[in-house]
Amino acid sequence: MEIGVINPLEHGGQCFEHVSRFGLHVCQLVSWDNTQATREVAATAKREAAKAGVRICAMWSGMPGPGEWNFSRGPATLGLVPPEYRSIRVAALKQWADFASWLGVPAIITHCGFIPENPGDPNYTPVVEAVRDVARHCQQLGLEFWFETGQESPVVLLRTIERVGTGNLGINLDPANLLLYGKGNPIDALDVFGKYVRNVHVKDGFCPTDGEHLGQEAKVGEGKVRFPEFIRRLQELGFTGELIIEREISGEQQIRDIRDTVAYLQQLLAR
Ligand code: MG
Repeated sequence: MEIGVINPLEHGGQCFEHVSRFGLHVCQLVSWDNTQATREVAATAKREAAKAGVRICAMWSGMPGPGEWNFSRGPATLGLVPPEYRSIRVAALKQWADFASWLGVPAIITHCGFIPENPGDPNYTPVVEAVRDVARHCQQLGLEFWFETGQESPVVLLRTIERVGTGNLGINLDPANLLLYGKGNPIDALDVFGKYVRNVHVKDGFCPTDGEHLGQEAKVGEGKVRFPEFIRRLQELGFTGELIIEREISGEQQIRDIRDTVAYLQQLLAR
């Protein structure tokens, strides 16, 4: 399990100082601007990553249109679930897949949204078909498509992977998201979908305390994930993917927290 960090795709691909500053050599690139998914940016990012000695383990692929990260408007705005944004978002994910293949990166990741719990919901099969469309495009490029956990329960995610059925699907497990969205306990979730986990976001947080808003994110080690047990369970499952630190604040505090989390993980992994 190599430790890495989330790294925003910025400055046309000249953006790897944010990884090197922590003494790390792996990252997930993240962007919500699909106009950046060009051959030129890919060539620059590939060259700059090599120069910095950084490996990009996945492309986290944001999609156009509105996104509200709460329980009241989230289901109508996020991911491939809202029908009115679905086709432009499928197109954007295919662009990111092309970008990932130019970069030589093995997978794209995104949030698919509040996937319906009821498989008989009239909007469920269209979501499965949209994911399959993107996953097949990835497959033609030799890539995987990974779901980031968050808006759906673990069993909904497992069912969706089974029904999409393309064989190149995986999970980017963000343990904090399962708590923030009140969708499950991340350690127990490994019993449901552990074999599909390819990358982990090292993020911590708390459960929601009202019916409208997500729970609070916290510095790693200070929330409810229980990282020592979580990492031990990943080890038992034979997980060998990357542990990607994500801290959703900005400025100096973010930098300090990421440094502390690198040290905390090194200590957990040395046990
Ligand atoms: Mg995350």
